[in-house]
Amino acid sequence: MSLIILGSVAFDALETPFGKTDKIVGGAASYAALAASYLYKDVKIVGVVGEDFGESNLSKFTKRNIDISGIQIKTGEKSFFWSGRYHNDMNTRDTLVTELNVLGSFDPIIPSNYQDAQYILLGNLSPQVQITALKRLKKRPKLTVLDTMNFWMDIALDDLKKVLKEVDVLAINDEEARQLSGQYALVRAAEEILNMGPKYLIIKKGEHGALLFGEGKIFSAPALPLAEVFDPTGAGDTFAGGFIGYLAKRDIVDFQHMKSAIIYGSALASFCVEKFGTERIENLQDEDIAARINQFSALTAFDI
Ligand code: AMP
Repeated sequence: MSLIILGSVAFDALETPFGKTDKIVGGAASYAALAASYLYKDVKIVGVVGEDFGESNLSKFTKRNIDISGIQIKTGEKSFFWSGRYHNDMNTRDTLVTELNVLGSFDPIIPSNYQDAQYILLGNLSPQVQITALKRLKKRPKLTVLDTMNFWMDIALDDLKKVLKEVDVLAINDEEARQLSGQYALVRAAEEILNMGPKYLIIKKGEHGALLFGEGKIFSAPALPLAEVFDPTGAGDTFAGGFIGYLAKRDIVDFQHMKSAIIYGSALASFCVEKFGTERIENLQDEDIAARINQFSALTAFDI
């Protein structure tokens, strides 16, 4: 049994009020797979890179025992490149460059040793590629989680609506939930979105935590108040990887377990933002994660 993470494997160049990076490893699948690998042993990536990505960057995944046989390496081509600059509030950013490169013609191939997957995260990518990957699985997984962004709502809404019919959980941020539903109040937005197909909806609210909707219930999780946020890139993908990694480990899919999964996702995301790119989530200790989970419990515990 395994967990498949589909998504971009990329080079990013980042600018925050704290500094700037040259090309470093980024991409939705990179963050999500690294995060999931702390909670579940059998994580497998489906993605594509160019010849420029290199062995040493791929070894970031293999060091965490992540299966990369589903990452296609395109000879003579360049990896997906994204560049962003954060504003002083660290919540908003401008995309400076998006070079699709190998992602422009990505045809996701599912290796035969991936076919036993019971869990799949359809990470941020074109909805068309997400549908194709799902169709290529011979057996429908126990849980399919979808992550997407406003970019795809703007240019591929019809395809996105098709994917929504096929997934169990959708994870998006508050602005995206408003855009997708046309509703401002998040409770109304959730009602609309749950009518589009998914059984559960997670609305990520950045430094204000996350909401889970499903089974007629709502759960609200905080984000850990952090003294310093160095680079928020990939926090959403890290959250999604932690969320599905926890559920794969417990192998029970219901609202109750999703509440815990959200806390694990949030804990991992709180590490992600402490350093540039994937640096912090390449080197976590189990004790660090356990300590942060305890901080979450303390943060929300109260008696009446
Ligand atoms: P997040 O901060 O969670 O929105 O994710 C940031 C990551 O998404 C970066 O590492 C980028 O490489 C990747 N990314 C940005 N735009 C796209 C896109 N259009 N498709 C796929 N991945 C993207």
